Amino acid sequence: MNIYANNDFRLRFKDLWRLIGNSPLLVINFIYKGQKRTIYAKSEHFNITGSIKDRMALYIIEKAYHEGRIKPEDTIVEATSGNTGISFSAIGRALGHKVRIIMPDWMSKERVDIINSFGAEIIPISKEQGGFLGSIKLSEEIASREANIFLPQQFSNEANAQAHERTTGPEIWSQLTYHGITPDAFVAGVGTGGTVMGVGRFLRQMNPEIKIHPLEPAESPTMSTGHKVGSHRIQGISDEFVPALVKLEQLDRIIAVPDGDSIIMAQKLARQLGLAVGISSGANFLGALQVQNSMGPEAKVVTVFADCNKKYLSTDLMREEPVRSDYESPEVELINFKVYKRVCDNCCDMFECEIKPYTRTKQV
Ligand code: PMP
Repeated sequence: MNIYANNDFRLRFKDLWRLIGNSPLLVINFIYKGQKRTIYAKSEHFNITGSIKDRMALYIIEKAYHEGRIKPEDTIVEATSGNTGISFSAIGRALGHKVRIIMPDWMSKERVDIINSFGAEIIPISKEQGGFLGSIKLSEEIASREANIFLPQQFSNEANAQAHERTTGPEIWSQLTYHGITPDAFVAGVGTGGTVMGVGRFLRQMNPEIKIHPLEPAESPTMSTGHKVGSHRIQGISDEFVPALVKLEQLDRIIAVPDGDSIIMAQKLARQLGLAVGISSGANFLGALQVQNSMGPEAKVVTVFADCNKKYLSTDLMREEPVRSDYESPEVELINFKVYKRVCDNCCDMFECEIKPYTRTKQV
């Protein structure tokens, strides 16, 4: 019998969903070149391990249980640049799974230490051993030679994007429309592409006119060129190849943001507003600003702050970054923020619910 049919077991997912998703939407007010502006950002460090990746990790595991493709004795094996490893380590442990994470050896020390703290095994992969692509290949080799292995395969698993289509997208829509606001554009840095594809798909259903923009580092334009070029410092995005989940033909223009500008913007969000975000959040803010510049100052542009700054204490985020004349961050003066929080009350199970999630939310 599928263990997911057991009510007590299913309730464990329901409890985990109470710690994942339903993040606050920040309404960030700022001055840009003397003009008053607003950008909306989902604050994703509120999730159980502090990043947006908790959503897809829990969704992928729950879906696999629902479909009977994972067993309690399975070891979860995943190739990841960090946040995903942290998510699967925590959620895997919460559900009693062993976890093995295959990770490039140049990721921040904080990421490695956190994964270790969950008792997960880490297999470091060097550039010579193939980097990200080598990590994915190794995970598949492990699954073919060992029994009881579950591969989430975040780069190609549609359930990754579905997690955002079922949770992040509806939350954004509900939080904004409750306040009478219709989003005009959504921008997100692409790691696996799960966020931009899933949120994009949902918001397009609700507003077919909306623009959905993927974002990449200016120094390493993998999506624009189709292959790995250069290197960059925005951990979590642009991992050397265009992931299978990313369908560029379904998306609007690719936005490029320099990594140094992203670092300064992330620092500014902490220093001026007390919003301690990671480097990709700085990039996403600047990407949203670029889109707003092209659509008009009143455009309602939404993005995500994928994680907080604590995993970057040993990186350039903690150092003074030289300003370049082409940077936008010096033109941004942050004023204040408001918070929209509308929550799903988790009245039902993720895979048993017939009601569209955005209709079962309430205001707090
Ligand atoms: N920012 C950070 C810090 C991340 O860890 C990730 C995930 N790798 C992303 C952005 C991109 O998210 P996605 O994988 O959904 O494209």
